[in-house]
Amino acid sequence: MPQKPGNIIFRRVFGPVRSRRLGISLGVDLIPPKTCNQNCVYCEAGKTGDLTNERGEFFPPSEILDELFAFLSSGPKLDFITFSGAGEPTLYSKIGEVISGIKENFPEYKICLLTNGILIGHGSMPDELRLLDLIIPSLDASDEDTFQKINRPAKGLNFEYLKNSLTMFRKRNQVEMWLELFIVPGANDSDSSLKNFAEIISVIKPDKIQLNGLDRPAFESWVKKADAETVLKFKGELEKICPVEIIPKLTAEFCSSESGGADIKEKILRLVSRRPCTAEEISLIFGIDAMRADAMILELLRAKKVSFEKMDRGVFVVPNRK
Ligand code: SF4
Repeated sequence: MPQKPGNIIFRRVFGPVRSRRLGISLGVDLIPPKTCNQNCVYCEAGKTGDLTNERGEFFPPSEILDELFAFLSSGPKLDFITFSGAGEPTLYSKIGEVISGIKENFPEYKICLLTNGILIGHGSMPDELRLLDLIIPSLDASDEDTFQKINRPAKGLNFEYLKNSLTMFRKRNQVEMWLELFIVPGANDSDSSLKNFAEIISVIKPDKIQLNGLDRPAFESWVKKADAETVLKFKGELEKICPVEIIPKLTAEFCSSESGGADIKEKILRLVSRRPCTAEEISLIFGIDAMRADAMILELLRAKKVSFEKMDRGVFVVPNRK
C-alpha cells in the first residue's frame, strides 16, 4: 500500500530533475554505485567499481517502493519516473517487481528505463520489463573491437550478445524504444562504422534514434565531443531508417517552472552523487535562479559534502566521498 510522506530518507529516489530528453524526471537508482556490466569510456559516473554481469537483489523492493510511494503520494507533476543512476539498472533482479508496484498503485505515472541494453532481450527480461512506457538502450559500437574499446564489458560479454539482446527485446516486447547512440570521435565515427550502424539499426527497428555526445566530464580524458559535421552526417544517414533526434544541450528553455522545492540542497547532493554538474546545470535542472543555486552549493561546500573539480569544459560540483 502507498505510504504517507513522512520523515523518510530518500536514498534510492532522487530529483525530480530536468532531463534534456525526458522533461521532469524522477530518478530511481536500483543498484549500489557503481555496479555495472560495462565500464564505458564516456561514463559520467566514473570508473565501474564492480564490473559484473551477476544480477542481484541489492535492496529489498519494499525499500525502493516505500520511498517512491512517499514521494508520489503528494501527486507531483512528472513526465517520467526513470530508472537510471550510477550503474546498470537491469542488474537489479527485482526490477520487474518495482515496475509492477508502481503501476499497480500509481498507474498515472509513466516509467522509463535507461539501460546499456545488454541484458534486456535475454531470459526473462522482456517479460520483467513489459509494463514500461519507454526504454532507451544504447548502441555505441557496430563491431566487437569498437565495443571493447568504448563499452569495455564484463568478462564473457561481447558485441554479438548485445546485438542479439536488442533484436530479441524488440521481438518480444512492444514498449516504445528510443535507441541512443553516443558518438565517440576517433572510435565509432568513421564512414564504415556509420554504414554498419545503419545495417544493424535496420534490423532492430527502434521507434527513434537519439544521437548523444559528450556533455560533461568523461571518465577517459581522450573522449571528446563530436563536431557538428559528424553529428549531422550520422543524422542524415540514419534518418533513412527511422526518426533521429540530436539530444539537446540543457538550456534555459527547460527552466520554465519551479521544481526545486524546499529540500533543494539534499536534491543537489543526491544528483551530483550520481553525476557531476556545473552550477549552471544545477540551476537549470532544478529550475532555480543562478544565485540560489550558487548559495546552495556554497552551503554544501561549507558542510564539506561537495567540492569543485576543474575540467576542460568548466568547473563541476562533485561529491566528497567518505
Ligand atoms: S555509461 Fe552506463 S553502461 Fe556505461 S559504464 Fe556508465 S553506467 Fe555502465
